[in-house]
Amino acid sequence: MSRPLTDMDRRKQISVRGLAGVENVTDIKKNFNRHLHFTLVKDRNVATTRDYYQALAHTVRDHLVGRWIRTQQYYYEKDPKRIYYLSLEFYMGRTLQNTMVNLGLQGACDEAIYQLGLDIEELEDIEEDAGLGNGGLGRLAACFLDSMATLGLAAYGYGIRYEFGIFNQKIANGWQIEEADDWLRFGNPWEKARPEYTIPVNFYGRVDYTPDGVKWVDTHVVLALPYDTPVPGYRNNTVNTMRLWSAKAPNEFKLDDFNVGGYIQAVLDRNLAENISRVLYPNDNFFEGKELRLKQEYFVVAATLQDIIRRFKSSKFGSRDPVRTTFEAFPDKVAIQLNDTHPALAIPELMRIFIDIEHLSWEKAWEITNRTCAYTNHTVLPEALERWPVHLFELLLPRHLAIIYEINRRHMENVAKRYPGDNARLGRMSLIEEGDMKRINMAHLCIVGAHAVNGVARIHSEILKETVFKDFYEMEPSKFQNKTNGITPRRWLVLCNPGLADIIAEKIGEEYIVEMDELKKLLKFANDDAFIRAVANVKQENKLKFSVYLEKEYNVKINPSSMFDVQVKRIHEYKRQILNCLHIITFYNRIKREPNKKYTPRTVMIGGKAAPGYHMAKLIIRLITAIGEVVNNDPMVGDRLKVIYLENYRVSLAEKVIPASDLSEQISTAGTEASGTGNMKFMLNGALTIGTMDGANVEMAEEAGMDNFFIFGMRVKEVDAMDVKGGGEGRGNGYNAQSYYDRLPELKQAMDQISGGFFSPNDRGLFGEIVNMLMHHDRFKVFADYEDYIKCQDRVSALYMNPKEWTKMVIKNIATSGKFSSDRTIGEYARQIWGVEPSKHKIPPPSEPRE
Ligand SMILES: *Cc1c(COP(=O)(O)O)cnc(C)c1O
Repeated sequence: MSRPLTDMDRRKQISVRGLAGVENVTDIKKNFNRHLHFTLVKDRNVATTRDYYQALAHTVRDHLVGRWIRTQQYYYEKDPKRIYYLSLEFYMGRTLQNTMVNLGLQGACDEAIYQLGLDIEELEDIEEDAGLGNGGLGRLAACFLDSMATLGLAAYGYGIRYEFGIFNQKIANGWQIEEADDWLRFGNPWEKARPEYTIPVNFYGRVDYTPDGVKWVDTHVVLALPYDTPVPGYRNNTVNTMRLWSAKAPNEFKLDDFNVGGYIQAVLDRNLAENISRVLYPNDNFFEGKELRLKQEYFVVAATLQDIIRRFKSSKFGSRDPVRTTFEAFPDKVAIQLNDTHPALAIPELMRIFIDIEHLSWEKAWEITNRTCAYTNHTVLPEALERWPVHLFELLLPRHLAIIYEINRRHMENVAKRYPGDNARLGRMSLIEEGDMKRINMAHLCIVGAHAVNGVARIHSEILKETVFKDFYEMEPSKFQNKTNGITPRRWLVLCNPGLADIIAEKIGEEYIVEMDELKKLLKFANDDAFIRAVANVKQENKLKFSVYLEKEYNVKINPSSMFDVQVKRIHEYKRQILNCLHIITFYNRIKREPNKKYTPRTVMIGGKAAPGYHMAKLIIRLITAIGEVVNNDPMVGDRLKVIYLENYRVSLAEKVIPASDLSEQISTAGTEASGTGNMKFMLNGALTIGTMDGANVEMAEEAGMDNFFIFGMRVKEVDAMDVKGGGEGRGNGYNAQSYYDRLPELKQAMDQISGGFFSPNDRGLFGEIVNMLMHHDRFKVFADYEDYIKCQDRVSALYMNPKEWTKMVIKNIATSGKFSSDRTIGEYARQIWGVEPSKHKIPPPSEPRE
């Protein structure tokens, strides 16, 4: 028997399929050495691994440059409709390997680096994640950029270049500690600063109503410096741009005549302006109404819209054409997609530009704004919806406040006309919420100002129409759409799981990488013994590799033949990591009760960051680590159950753990997870899912078939029925945690252990708040799904004992995951919202520059 293939062997093998020429390898070695010398100013005696990473990054980057310039030149000449994806988050992760994959350079680079006596995976692992996002929303933006480039759309991502991305999580004594993410410390080889395109952004000031129009005056100016990052499509020579803005104080900042003698202080105060792009707000699905956050939201919008309008004006259809001095053609040449309400100010800002600066009528400005903008909703959780206090706007954005009031006045007029006498509806639909503190409802602003509103999975889009946005849906049903999320198969299969990508390619070719529905062709191998073995082998290799990683980095030993049961996502009550904990404890208690019975061994891994201000989420992390301390050190349990907290879950860790997972935990309360995208990554990488009928799980189960999916728990209608409170007809049965506790002995035992200090012997009351929440005010009804969850986990364990049947089911899941490609999602946005057609056309490759 020959030794099993390593990932390295496979990466070279894939590269043999027409990717790596010998000349390429020679050139790469030459350029690597050239960069080490001229760019890093080192020789191999003193170079560190980081220098080698940098040298390789610059070598690969050189292959982007010609394509990037060409693509942008091509857009300038052909002037296609531009797609602008506005987002406060782009959770990009690492760039080096992704660039090699998309440019078809991976095989050649692997070989070149090998010939240089270096380990390419070690170099890749040096790269910092670009962690400019919190979770799913930010990662979605990153997947969309990849798909838009792959589909040949003239697309741009616009956001903020945070100096500090999502914090690094350390676990100390079982608690989360946050560390600043100083990701730019060693420089960023992937960005190009463009100070020549600096744009001024105004804040504060007052509104002057003059005979020749409204003027926003006496403002404070902050400069927005663009940094461009290339976004390569998959092997199509397209390279799009992600443009991130960095805040800079103008040189005259605070240095006016009134500031005599205050020169030093004035220079120090430049920080105040530059703080705008300092740090990403670390909240996932939570609104924190801080002034600095509002500044960030306006900063990205104002800089971006000036850039968009400059580009429009310099295009064929812009006002360069003397006959067309109006913005009539704007919506035919520009689409703006708002990633949640975070960039909602684009709507009043466009109105301000059109009216105050370009002197269009309100009606014309409104029509153009509306036809240009579209809005994606990402959550129905009330605590996540942005409702900005009016007083903050009065101070920071007085002109925008006036415009929003006028939008609302006209909107209220329309509603009143359509529903005469329905005052309650007027109140519900207003953009302005009355109360002790007047607030602006940003979702309402987006719905009114956009021509399309979409949810991110079928069930979520239905919930929007039936509940949160019901009134708006009734008034304008055709505005409401669904665009089920997706993930890019380039990063989430080819890059992170080369072993699996390779055996799939052996069976069905490589077309699936850009046409994920092709995976369906694997169905006919679901009973092919050799393929079943190959899939199981790849999983086992991935598990071994991840075990080695855990042992090396964290000094934890795990049993690689146990089931890897994984829940990785932000820590949030609605995601119900606590339900997972209750299963772990239940399993532990069963082992203790009947130690001689046969059990399916599990390694349960849980990872994710808690928002620093989210007390309950941090306590949940402590509960997980506390359970691990007891379970992992109980000799009676042995290696039948281990509980591992995966520290600092982020994109690059997801790429390691997901390919090694057997079981994917997607267990939110039905109706709370808008889509989920982690669920899709696991499905594509050969894990089975245990999940609720929530978000995209519903469509995943539909694609795979209910028999190939472990679905449990309440459906949305059952959850809702419990929520109906009070007397009268249609009364719900309520949710009574106590009744489950009384009825289910294993649940009672687990809860008694948590509350009695079994997992916190040195601080027996440590988890009192969790217990109190679960027993008395659990919004997410953990106990209601407990019994069904445990039963479902028992079925999972039983199937795992039959590896062949397990792997057959895995193959059926992989084969039916095609719908969840972000290429499909982007195709739908393109045709149904943006009015553009995706294309597989390849821009002719540039001739590489020669010295
Ligand atoms: C995909 C991804 C997410 C989203 O996961 P969900 O389970 O959908 O919440 C969050 N964080 C990272 C690092 C991811 O890669």
